[in-house]
Amino acid sequence: MTESQSFWPVECAQGEPDLFVCLTCFDEVFKAKMPVDGCPSCGAIAAFEPFSMDAIREWGTENLIQKAEQLPSSSSSSKPGSDQATSSI
Ligand SMILES: [Zn+2]
Repeated sequence: MTESQSFWPVECAQGEPDLFVCLTCFDEVFKAKMPVDGCPSCGAIAAFEPFSMDAIREWGTENLIQKAEQLPSSSSSSKPGSDQATSSI
């Protein structure tokens, strides 16, 4: 892993869109975070807007959809599979 990029964490409420897509090149997507130095593909800064997976599937490019699907579905859960309906107060 040679990840030297820094990201701003973005807090997203449950059920809110948390996939940040670059609206300049539509080629980069990040989950609940935005690159500090701008889009790694086109260099645009503050060009990221949150979208849901469904929305990306509707209008995204094949490449973008693939990237979005590869993102982890939950950022703070170590148990993949069923992390819903288990969180109580
Ligand atoms: Zn871009």
